[in-house]
Amino acid sequence: MADKRDYYEVLGIQKGASEDEIKKAYRSLAKKYHPDLNPDNKEAEEKFKEVNEAYEVLSDPSKKERYDQFGHAGVDPSYQGGGFNGGFSGGGFTGGFGMEDIFDSLFGGGVFGGGRSSNPNAARRGQDIQQNITISFMEACNGVNTDINIEKLEKCDECGGNGCAKGTQPDTCPECHGTGQVRVQQRTPFGVISSAKTCSRCNGRGKVINNPCSKCGGYGRTRVNKKLNVSIPAGINDGQTIRLSGQGNNGVNGGPSGDVLLTVSVRPDPLFVRDDYDIHVDIPITFAQAALGDEIVVPTIDGKVKYTVPEGTQTGTVFRLKGKGVKRLNSSSRGDQYVRVYVEVPSKLTKKQKDALKAFEESLEDDKNYTKRPGFFEKLKNALK
Ligand SMILES: [Zn+2]
Ligand SMILES: [Zn+2]
Repeated sequence: MADKRDYYEVLGIQKGASEDEIKKAYRSLAKKYHPDLNPDNKEAEEKFKEVNEAYEVLSDPSKKERYDQFGHAGVDPSYQGGGFNGGFSGGGFTGGFGMEDIFDSLFGGGVFGGGRSSNPNAARRGQDIQQNITISFMEACNGVNTDINIEKLEKCDECGGNGCAKGTQPDTCPECHGTGQVRVQQRTPFGVISSAKTCSRCNGRGKVINNPCSKCGGYGRTRVNKKLNVSIPAGINDGQTIRLSGQGNNGVNGGPSGDVLLTVSVRPDPLFVRDDYDIHVDIPITFAQAALGDEIVVPTIDGKVKYTVPEGTQTGTVFRLKGKGVKRLNSSSRGDQYVRVYVEVPSKLTKKQKDALKAFEESLEDDKNYTKRPGFFEKLKNALK
């Protein structure tokens, strides 16, 4: 035993180091040399053993005191002739925290049987259900009340959700006796490591169902088709999602239900084009209507309205119909409708029509009947100089 290294040296700390410093040094070295992280590495295994032995002593105030006073002879069981019985027992980790602590900080838990934080008996919220619906342009503008069909998990009505056949109850798991955890002992060269694992028989629930419900097979929830009435608000736009609170899958262990997330697709309209809450529409007018002015009929989402196009309206002119757009969600105000008129040039004219048009054309005077032409040709002349 003379070749035993000093425990402080093993942990890389000074004599007189604080409890915290000892713990910190141990944790970092235990991680470094852990056999699971150094498979088939004899040297690491030896180091790991050494680190644990040092910690076993230095973390125990009475052993530490004896060690500080007598050195290895004060604590080593092989020095039992010396009258000290409380030495390193080889029994593994009794020093305040165990392997799970190391692994929790290494991997964030989960190495030992799926982690300790996920209690299978805890109440869990049901999952959300994603669903799509397609509505017309007008339905999006005006809102619509409609039914949708969803498939959801509901508490089994046969067993009331406990998964047991009528008149029976779940039994205490014979494997873990209801604790949901079993202790697993692992024999290693430096002692037996004991750790808790989720019971595989009951998956940690602590209970097993020996007579499962015939309807849900012990699951406690069944898949059902449900009709849901949905009120889609006026103003909804393509791609927006409505949340139907509490209409999703039922929760587990008494947890709340999830939601239905209904994503709305809006079919395009042949006339109207929507831009946020405004509506755009293009209306063809005749040359005469543009030149003379006229009352035209304009479609809106509320129905047809009349609009007077003034004399001399140019093609591409946009009129605004205030408040004729789409109702804003969560507001009573509405967007506007923009009407763009364009002059449709007549085609397939008869000879009579063509003659009339030529006569008309000849009667026109550039600087009297047009505002843009004279200026344009002036600029064109200058550009071509
Ligand atoms: Zn069990
Ligand atoms: Zn059932």
